Amino acid sequence: MLVKAVECGECKSIVYSRTEDDVRECVCGRIIVSGGLQYFNYEVLYKASYKIKKIEVRLTPDLLYDDWYESTDDFGLIRSEVSEETPTSSVYVA
Ligand SMILES: [Zn+2]
Repeated sequence: MLVKAVECGECKSIVYSRTEDDVRECVCGRIIVSGGLQYFNYEVLYKASYKIKKIEVRLTPDLLYDDWYESTDDFGLIRSEVSEETPTSSVYVA
């Protein structure tokens, strides 16, 4: 499915909100998304540059809800592949 997401121009990570009550920030904390899939909302701090994107994820709203509810946090934040801080365990299927 397609989800609305925000790519941070500073840390290059992409964040999206999984559920209505999910508040998620990018790696550097400048971009904050909320509102879930239906009520997508975002905030930009420190006049950071950003891009609104629609990304394709192979997930369902139920999976995203469970990920949020159980604090698994596998989804909602896509770290930049070029970042030196990228953990090797973070593999994202988009
Ligand atoms: Zn950032």
